[in-house]
Amino acid sequence: MQTIQNYIGGKLVAPAGGNYLDLYDPATGQVYSKVPDSDAGDVERAVIAARKAFPAWSATSVDNRARIMERIADFIEAKLDKLAEAESLDNGKPVWLAKQVDIPRASANFRFFARAITQFSSQAHEMTDAINYTLRQPLGVVGTISPWNLPLYLFTWKVAPALAAGNTVIAKPSEVTPLTAYLLAEICVEAGLPPGVFNIIHGDGAKVGAEITRHPAIKAISFTGSTRVGAEIARVAAPVFKKLSLEMGGKNPNIIFADCDYERMLDTTVRSSFANQGQICLCGSRIFVERPIYERFKADFIARTKALKVGHPSDDSVKLGAVVSKPHYDKVLSYIEIAKEEGGTILAGGHAVHPQGFENGWYIAPTIIEGLSADCRTNTEEIFGPVVTIMPFDTEAEVLDYANGTDYGLSCTIWTEHLSRANRMAKEIHAGIVWVNTWLQRDLRTPFGGVKNSGVGREGGFEALRFFTEAKNVCIRYG
Ligand code: NAD
Repeated sequence: MQTIQNYIGGKLVAPAGGNYLDLYDPATGQVYSKVPDSDAGDVERAVIAARKAFPAWSATSVDNRARIMERIADFIEAKLDKLAEAESLDNGKPVWLAKQVDIPRASANFRFFARAITQFSSQAHEMTDAINYTLRQPLGVVGTISPWNLPLYLFTWKVAPALAAGNTVIAKPSEVTPLTAYLLAEICVEAGLPPGVFNIIHGDGAKVGAEITRHPAIKAISFTGSTRVGAEIARVAAPVFKKLSLEMGGKNPNIIFADCDYERMLDTTVRSSFANQGQICLCGSRIFVERPIYERFKADFIARTKALKVGHPSDDSVKLGAVVSKPHYDKVLSYIEIAKEEGGTILAGGHAVHPQGFENGWYIAPTIIEGLSADCRTNTEEIFGPVVTIMPFDTEAEVLDYANGTDYGLSCTIWTEHLSRANRMAKEIHAGIVWVNTWLQRDLRTPFGGVKNSGVGREGGFEALRFFTEAKNVCIRYG
């Protein structure tokens, strides 16, 4: 059993209070390790280390920062199998998925921002008698707080731009899935990242996350997680004027017009509904289908969904592993009950699964529900599991109304071969990210984030480097 440790001042250390939380393997429901239950004292030690490291790291040349970060990316790639197995053990996702998506993306995040910082520039504004130039300076010590659904992928998506921009970092991974962040700390030691530049404090959100949010020496918070916690972070951080980037929940519409490329739409819709057990903030959980193809789609989608194998994440033929935790399992199952109470008909799934030998794991069958109104709880609240609803529509105006009818606005997928309609819909949808005839196709240079209750600010590309730097204008009068 591997006991996870904090990473402070370049060293892997136990929490000073000596307290730990149990860590569960979702595939078996058993405790498999322990994670530090850190407290404000541990955060303070990390802040001291990060403040000490800041002058040298911010003065390190861009090329040298980039070189170290590329080395970290190389190590992540070299340890692909070990990291993928760790991610699956912590999260319940299929090992093959972690190998194909989570770990390669974690490495790509470091490599992308190592290269991006070498291309990052600022502006100059010339006047007749003076020149203005804008400095983009690192903020100092910054905090990152991330969730359990794509643990290393989202953890590195924040840490990499923060480091590339010359900040020192206090990072808090989810206490539910801390293992790969711990393994990344080992990699950073091996890769020669200077002590204190990057610190990881594990533990409970209400203790460690809240302390990072509150600490006056931490100048910015980049958060990904639920809208409820994002609101709490904003409440604490806004009055002390910290920079905030908030990536929060979603309830994404998947809008399918009758003129779509049907087979491609069907393949992708199965994925966009149930990949990672439906626990991707970008999954399309509300599927609206134009009436002429509704019955055909319904029959095909049910058949394809029923064929998805649910089972132990180490089995390569499994499409859905376990959901992340017992509380989350209970939450998702409770929403299936709510859907029934709201008059929904279960077309597929709708129940827990108990694979032989792993009966105590937290498995849920991919679930399709029909017959609900667009404004019921099932269709407006985030479930974040393998549960989708389907509903027919007749007109663009009607489906826009459905699609925009929640408090969320993260992403949307539109399926149509009609160019003008695709453009019209993309413009009218309340979302930060719109995919047309594709899903989860990501270019790391593009702005990433949501509107309404899904987010404030944008990650990705130079947007992230701008977030992690402060603009300072210098105006020099010509002599
Ligand atoms: P969560 O909000 O419960 O936790 C996220 C992180 O915040 C964890 O590290 C947690 O420990 C910490 N935290 C909890 N309470 C805190 C507090 N009071 N102060 C500071 N930090 C605190 O979210 P989760 O359950 O881990 O993740 C699922 C949620 O994340 C879903 O709502 C999902 O939509 C969202 N998500 C959004 C995106 C996006 O890009 N918009 C991506 C992935 C996940």
